[in-house]
Amino acid sequence: MEDISKIEESLAQYKKENRELKHKVYELTDFVENASIPLHWVDGAGKIIWANQAELDTFGYTKEEYIGFPISNFHADQEVIQDILTRLINNETLHNYQAKLKCRDGSIKHVLINSNVLRKDGRFIHTRCFTRDITAIMQEQQRNRELMLVLEQQGAIIASSNDAVLSKTLEGTITSWNKSAERIFGYTEPEIIGQPVQKLLPPDRRDEESRILSRLWNGDQVEHFETRRLTKTGRILDVSLTISPIRDDKGNIVGLSTIARDISEKKQEEQRKNDFVTMVSHELKTPLTAIMSYIQILIKKTKNEDDFGFKALTKIHAQAKKMASMIHDFLNLARLEDGKIQLNKEIFALHPLVEEIIGDVQILSTKHTVKLIDCEAITVHADRNKIGQVLMNLVSNAIKYSPAGGTITIGCEKHPGKVKVLVSDEGIGISVADQKRLFERFYRVSNNKSGGVTGFGIGLFLVSEILRLHNSKIEVESKENAGSTFYFDLEIQKD
Ligand code: ADP
Repeated sequence: MEDISKIEESLAQYKKENRELKHKVYELTDFVENASIPLHWVDGAGKIIWANQAELDTFGYTKEEYIGFPISNFHADQEVIQDILTRLINNETLHNYQAKLKCRDGSIKHVLINSNVLRKDGRFIHTRCFTRDITAIMQEQQRNRELMLVLEQQGAIIASSNDAVLSKTLEGTITSWNKSAERIFGYTEPEIIGQPVQKLLPPDRRDEESRILSRLWNGDQVEHFETRRLTKTGRILDVSLTISPIRDDKGNIVGLSTIARDISEKKQEEQRKNDFVTMVSHELKTPLTAIMSYIQILIKKTKNEDDFGFKALTKIHAQAKKMASMIHDFLNLARLEDGKIQLNKEIFALHPLVEEIIGDVQILSTKHTVKLIDCEAITVHADRNKIGQVLMNLVSNAIKYSPAGGTITIGCEKHPGKVKVLVSDEGIGISVADQKRLFERFYRVSNNKSGGVTGFGIGLFLVSEILRLHNSKIEVESKENAGSTFYFDLEIQKD
């Protein structure tokens, strides 16, 4: 009896231990199956016989697509997997062995493998393989290498650049200085590093740096900004500056880098051309004024207006006026570039001025009808002569670039505090690409339609500069073959 109770007791004990053991096995299985590190076993023939969920998730396969297949199917580099298997068969333990594995979506992951072999009685049972995904680290390293390469190249470019390249803090302390900066400004690197950038600014431009900074804060680009700088010997240089912000890794502006190009020679060349144009224009103006005066006298003296002589004189007068207007444009261009154009603002009625312009241009063409709409009773505050010149340029362009004739409309739209003046035609129109460049100096549209129409490409440049001086802006709306409308605002005289 006693024996039976002992057996029962040890049976109970055995069952309890068995339950505990099963529980342990359950916990351990759960641990490896759900561990966050990818794990797998490979048998002696190189076939995957087990893999946990983390391994499947990392490479994107289902159990059915992974387990039972040769491990070499999943390696991007066959030599590497053969080496791994040979080492493991030879009883080696692998520590952080680098390999590349193929994912289901075709991408490649860089991994580190730690592995050795479970053996029983010397027999190869399976490998125990721990895999660590290091793709993100490898990509980061690659990016760093590329960045270093770019930095090295940029460094080489800066060092060998013909332009001065310098950087400074937001307070204006110079922090870097290349060889060309030394050549252009005369200061050596040790002399200038740590010095205020104000040393390079002529006295009349001392506030320029803060204005440039505020433009950069507003997100504006500062490119090819023409100004003047001072050398070590006190010489004034014409330079073109391109300034870019230097940002920290959070995107905050922490300094500025400047590329300065010495454009003194180009400026001198421009000045010589300017002087030449001014001189020629002056020389042409005097005889032309005399010619015009004689024509006017002759017109007045002509009795019969039906006479051919009278008609011819009227045409000569119109052409001479056109020539005078071109010369006027040239003189203005030269003055503008010398910074010598000044406005003489006055209060004047717009309507009579527009009528004068129409009177002048109507003689130029019989094919066009010029209409004037809603400009009565508008008094503006502007430079009368210069606004006359703006209108003259716009209306004569409207005629020039509508070879088939049509209506040219000069219209006024009253808005609070200002009037919008429009000049529109039914001519050849302007493409969108040309509209962007129309107001540049010497820009002319190159197409067959306007071929044969003479001009120098300065009219619209002057128009835009005169309006800029009036704090206004010339704008255009146009469609090819459907005509153009040019318009601008003027300040209305306050009552
Ligand atoms: P120019 O007439 O002397 O060439 P402008 O500066 O006045 O110079 O004009 C620049 C260019 O703009 C012209 O060559 C012409 O191609 C184009 N353009 C100006 N006005 C008109 C217009 N009303 N219609 C079509 N094209 C125009």
